[in-house]
Amino acid sequence: MLDAPSALRSVWLAIHWFDHDLAYMSLIVQKYGGTSVGDPVRIRNVAGRVATTRRDGNDVIVVVSAMGKYTDDLIRLATEVSNDPPAREMDMLLTAGERISMALLAMALSDLGIGAVSLTGSQAGILTDDTHGEARITEIRGTRVKDGLAKQKIVIVAGFQGVDPESKEITTLGRGGSDATAVALAAAHGASVCEIYTDVDGVFTADPRIVAGARKLEEVSFDEMLELAASGSGVLMGRSVEFGRRFNIPIHVRSSFREGEGTWVKEKTMEQAIISGVAHDSSEAKVTVQAVPDQPGVAAALFEPLAEAGVNVDMIVQNVSSDGSTDISFTVPRSHTANAREIAMRVADELGAGGVDVDEAIGKVSLVGAGMKSHPGVAARVFRALADAAINVEMISTSTIRVSCVVRGDKVEDAVRALHDEFEPPMITQEIGADG
Ligand code: ADP
Ligand code: ASP
Ligand code: MG
Repeated sequence: MLDAPSALRSVWLAIHWFDHDLAYMSLIVQKYGGTSVGDPVRIRNVAGRVATTRRDGNDVIVVVSAMGKYTDDLIRLATEVSNDPPAREMDMLLTAGERISMALLAMALSDLGIGAVSLTGSQAGILTDDTHGEARITEIRGTRVKDGLAKQKIVIVAGFQGVDPESKEITTLGRGGSDATAVALAAAHGASVCEIYTDVDGVFTADPRIVAGARKLEEVSFDEMLELAASGSGVLMGRSVEFGRRFNIPIHVRSSFREGEGTWVKEKTMEQAIISGVAHDSSEAKVTVQAVPDQPGVAAALFEPLAEAGVNVDMIVQNVSSDGSTDISFTVPRSHTANAREIAMRVADELGAGGVDVDEAIGKVSLVGAGMKSHPGVAARVFRALADAAINVEMISTSTIRVSCVVRGDKVEDAVRALHDEFEPPMITQEIGADG
């Protein structure tokens, strides 16, 4: 998405994130996702894991998500009482989910004779901007977390939430935001690793729910993981990977149900893959402004107001036709569709364009790999594989390490399987050694 670098800049300005006075023996941050804390038995399981980590001599900060699909349930509840729930109240509602998990986990730990204290995002000093529903962490003040650790307690922090220090309003960080809470806390408190416990064994070469033969990656670089996440690989929230890369915090994605190594997301990997995996995203919509005059300033007239309104534009395609007019299509997260449509219609009116069409039945499939840039012909193979599977490509975008195609929504899973069959990731080129 287009606004990641500026978000990072604002975060890193907050130098006092770091407190060099406090040297933790060995601090581990563990984050447990919704399925991992989905019922009382699983919460007791998590308590057992945390207790073992503690007994091994580590300080532990635990970040928890809401139980199971509780966040979805709360969103549904909101839509049942209101057609347009105010963003502030939505955040008040959604933060309750994580609050339940954190208190239950503290109780389960207490049962095991382990001292624990649960803190909301605000109590844990997670300061954010004021964007309800998609807030960005701007600073972390660590006092209460440090106090808890100094008292030999496990500190449990509610994921996915913070507070805007100016307005004192509670905010949420966007779906999957507990990952961002965890890695940001790991960075702020100087943890040696951030462990992300989830319902799969690690990061796979494609969503294992779609591709039965997907393989677990032993390691993946921050850059590739960022592309995978930005392309829809929901296993890690993109912003958490940005934090990991910026502060060089290794992220270990692993199963909360099984023992064994998961996937290490880190700066340098032993092997350089040409292709690391296939990602898909079914959460975007395509907006098309039809028959716009083909003249200078038109794209600026459209995308400036979208940017000002905070609409996250992903792919953009412009088709000039022989009559001198052009169609401009772009994709946005579906949560931004209403806003994007309104702005596009206003601009279309001003420009005398043909009209605006919004298509929510699309999906995006992406092939990602850092070695792609030195291997020509990857994009051509992508298009051939999709063509052979009778899948029409509607939009294309590429970066040095990614090829993405928009296809019909009901073809996304076929497209993922077609690309996975064609490239059989991870496709390894060369061993480059630990220092390479
Ligand atoms: P949590 O609740 O633990 O945060 P998520 O549902 O957010 O879990 O993320 C885990 C899910 O991500 C998996 O169940 C899997 O279906 C999905 N997923 C998508 N792409 C991948 C991938 N490349 N590797 C592993 N899991 C993936
Ligand atoms: N509970 C929130 C969600 O479902 C945050 C998270 O789980 O990371 O998106
Ligand atoms: Mg998640």
